[in-house]
Formats: sequence, structure tokens, C-alpha cells
Amino acid sequence: MAIRNVVIYPDEILRKPNADVTVFDDDLKQLCADMLDTMYKNEGIGLAAPQIGVNRKIVVIDIPDDNDEQGKNQLILINPKITKREGELVESQEGCLSVPGYQDTVMRYPKVSVTYQDLEGKEQQLNDVEGLLAICLQHETDHLDGVVFVDKLSRLKRDRLHKKYSRILKELQHAE
Ligand SMILES: [Zn+2]
Repeated sequence: MAIRNVVIYPDEILRKPNADVTVFDDDLKQLCADMLDTMYKNEGIGLAAPQIGVNRKIVVIDIPDDNDEQGKNQLILINPKITKREGELVESQEGCLSVPGYQDTVMRYPKVSVTYQDLEGKEQQLNDVEGLLAICLQHETDHLDGVVFVDKLSRLKRDRLHKKYSRILKELQHAE
């Protein structure tokens, strides 16, 4: 088990192309275990591989249950792809482990379907997913396309973020 450093926006690593995973071996299992450890350590509900500096198509997600506890809904998605987006866009209040200390509202589809491979390379699918998991799947697969949720904000909001964010980053550096 290893906790990796989270890549912080606006690092270029978050913009690089992410390669398909083609080898399903113990190294991949270890990498996914590290991603889960890193996500839990940072109290996240989702993490994409580029967020720990690995430009490959891997996402881990764990949506908390009704008691706000994690561990029961763990998902590891290799080469995930959203195949269907449905419904009228809804407002989604989001944060991101790569954008610490900042939350804002972006628009997301309320329902999605996704195909992916599991750790053995077997094809899997999740159909007509709704709620927080649907939002999370969109947020994390965006990372695999080099997109961070703040990219979806209006220019005005993004300018505001960049002002506020430079202060947050300075505070974080001081805290270390
Ligand atoms: Zn994120």
C-alpha cells in the first residue's frame, strides 16, 4: 500500500493524453490499490490516474453509503468510456482533489451508461446510472480527456477562481 502525491491544478500532467491500458497484470493491480489508498487518504470519492501523475486510462470511485461510509461501493474502471448521456443537464456542486480548497457548480447529465474493463481485462458495463455516481463518472472520465471541472466554468468564474486559487496554493505551501 502506498499513498501517492496528488497532482495539483494547473499542472500540465492533467492535460496530457492518457493511454489505453492493454496489460492486466500485478503492476496494474498495485497501481489501482495505490489510487484507492490515495483517494481515501484525501477523503475523495473518485480519482483518475493522471491525478497521481500516471497518464493512463484508469479511474477509481467509491460513493459513500447512506451512513456516509465508504468501502461498499468500490469501483475500479479500466479504459472507461461513457456510451450514453441522458436527460436535461442538472447543476452539480463539485470539488476535485487536484483543485484543493475550491468548489463550484457545473452542469452534468443526470443519467449515463459506461463501458469499462475490470482488473482482469473483462468487459463490464454500468447502464442508466443516476445520482452521485453518474456525476462522478462524468467528472473522472473528463480527467482522462484532460479536462478538469473548472474548465467548465464561465470565464468570469474562472478568473475569480484563479485569483482565489493563487492564495489557496500559497496557504497550502505554508502549511507544509
Ligand atoms: Zn477531479
